[in-house]
Amino acid sequence: MSKPHRKRPVFSLAPVQFRDSAIEGRGVFARKHFARGDTVVAYAPKQRRLALDDQEAEAAAATKLTLVSEGYWVIVPDTSEPGGWLCNHSCSPNAAIYSDGAGRIQCLRPIRAGEEVTIFYGWVTLNEPERDPCRCGSANCRRYINFDLSDDDARHCESDTPKGLAFRARFQAYADYLASIDQAQVMDAIASKLGHLRMSLDR
Ligand SMILES: [Zn+2]
Repeated sequence: MSKPHRKRPVFSLAPVQFRDSAIEGRGVFARKHFARGDTVVAYAPKQRRLALDDQEAEAAAATKLTLVSEGYWVIVPDTSEPGGWLCNHSCSPNAAIYSDGAGRIQCLRPIRAGEEVTIFYGWVTLNEPERDPCRCGSANCRRYINFDLSDDDARHCESDTPKGLAFRARFQAYADYLASIDQAQVMDAIASKLGHLRMSLDR
């Protein structure tokens, strides 16, 4: 008597699961162990790519889910399909977002099966210091997701007044913190926004 043929599994276990998170809404959870540098999930399995100056891209930016890729394209996730765009922010992230190509989430450190996959949003706001309260729950949570720049910061950032000195101390502390979580590139966005803010105040 011959053994019946073993059927191949109909589906393979997906490497991540999308489910409710204690941080906020749905999150992305590992279903297997990931090593540092592993790609965890595509940013948006279904997406559209628009030109940077496309009006639709500017409108889509309000969702905070768009991703500028290679300086030319804006990736707009189709939210009918779950993906890395569902990753929550953490002040102590275990993964990071890479925007080249189609965009992906990649491990910064090993991630255990069952652990939530988190990234650092790197949002920079202008005169809205409390826009994005953080509920990441990590030991070194900074309370707000965003780093805020105020008009006062822009006016005094290069002066040796108490306001200028206080801003530069905060700026340096944030740079040190970003370096410690492998997100030093966020300083470029802060410097660029600060430059624009200073120009707008000079006018
Ligand atoms: Zn936090």
